[in-house]
Amino acid sequence: MGCRSAQEIWEAALGELQVQVSKQNYRTWLEKTLGLSYQDNQFIVGAPNTFVTEYLDKKLRSLIEKTLIGLSTNNIKVVFQVYNGRQNALRSDGVPTETNVATPGSHPMFNPKYTFSSFIVGNCNQLARAAAFGVAENPGRSYNPLFIYGGVGLGKTHLLQAIGHVALAKHLKVLYVSAERFTNDFITAIYQRKTGDFQNKYRTVDMLLIDDIQFISGKEQTEESFFHTFNELHTTNRQIAVTSDLPPSSLPLLQKRLLSRFEGGLIAAIQPPDVETRLAILRAKAEQQEVEIPLDALELIAQRAEQSIRQLEGLLNRVIAYARLVKAVVTPQLAAKAIEDIASYTPNSTSVTPSLVIEVVAHSFHLTPAALKTRQRDKQTALARQVAMYLMRRETDCSLAQVGQALGGRDHSTVIHACKKIAREIDASPDLRRKTRDLQHIIHSKQKAGN
Ligand code: ADP
Ligand code: MG
Repeated sequence: MGCRSAQEIWEAALGELQVQVSKQNYRTWLEKTLGLSYQDNQFIVGAPNTFVTEYLDKKLRSLIEKTLIGLSTNNIKVVFQVYNGRQNALRSDGVPTETNVATPGSHPMFNPKYTFSSFIVGNCNQLARAAAFGVAENPGRSYNPLFIYGGVGLGKTHLLQAIGHVALAKHLKVLYVSAERFTNDFITAIYQRKTGDFQNKYRTVDMLLIDDIQFISGKEQTEESFFHTFNELHTTNRQIAVTSDLPPSSLPLLQKRLLSRFEGGLIAAIQPPDVETRLAILRAKAEQQEVEIPLDALELIAQRAEQSIRQLEGLLNRVIAYARLVKAVVTPQLAAKAIEDIASYTPNSTSVTPSLVIEVVAHSFHLTPAALKTRQRDKQTALARQVAMYLMRRETDCSLAQVGQALGGRDHSTVIHACKKIAREIDASPDLRRKTRDLQHIIHSKQKAGN
């Protein structure tokens, strides 16, 4: 895999990881990671903040290393790093320094893939793309502010960062942050009495790009602070662009003045992609990865992800990773098989229920579901119960308490203990690893069949 970029390798790994951790965990810890570099058997994974890097390091390192090793023949060591601002962009007191504002040539705040040239245009996103391009070409002079909205995984972040890439190339001082980051910066500034620093960071830029602005909506003081930042930039013709999952009129804004500010610019929606656009995206992404996939297989993948381009990419990566693992060319049959395994991870599917997990686990240990809920402590029953706890944590969205409840009213510390124990044993025992993987497959296929 030497000639493939770190990001390509990482995407294949994410395709694999997606089926190995729970949906919830994937979203929280893995979805926003990047493959930053791969050299001398060291693979650097970027994550948006230290909270995530620490979690990945502690909890998912061994799984991630195994997955990467599985995709190559090399022994890989993984290092986790913050990419949203280099690590040294945080002062010891946690306040971001100016290095967070990218200067040309170094742009740790942008994903290098999110450019206009890699953005596929279709009916669903034509207006948003044209507006974003206009803003990038004529910042502060075409549409100000630009408000892009649409559902998850439809390319909002991609477009916002594409604007940023162009602005950087023009040597503009551009700042891209999530609204969550904006909020945290604001709260920290208040708390540490450093509102001057905050204003300096946000009000001295040529272009301010805020992702997922819905996050500040309903937070009174943050909204107000954004309002002032907005005015300061807007009156001096500096560009503001934001994304949101809802149109301005549907946001629960407390500052009605903000609504009229947003409505004073250009509001562009991104719709879910039609089938032609989905196919064009798949074709482009397969080409980027230098994999040949026949049209009928692409069509099959396009049919399986109708609502989100992220999901579409996830399926494609899964299919490519799968084809590499079994060293076969991609056919519709192979694609179907690869997708089957993760069908249960699509957001549209109903979630796995605790009782399904209990039923499947009990059956495989030749026990009844009721036995898992008793106090019986023989080795076989105890192991089955612990495996059920472990799988419930992975496959359902149940809390520790709910898992304990479903298994005969055990408390959460018992559940934690069981999950840790099984995770360790899976690491040590290929048999148990195979067994839990098989159980996961059965759970997914039963769930898909509506059982
Ligand atoms: P959002 O911010 O709307 O949730 P993202 O911008 O993160 O969605 O997009 C999800 C994934 O889909 C990204 O990897 C992005 O590059 C890709 N993507 C979205 N729209 C397009 C498109 N029109 N062309 C190519 N890739 C796209
Ligand atoms: Mg986004």
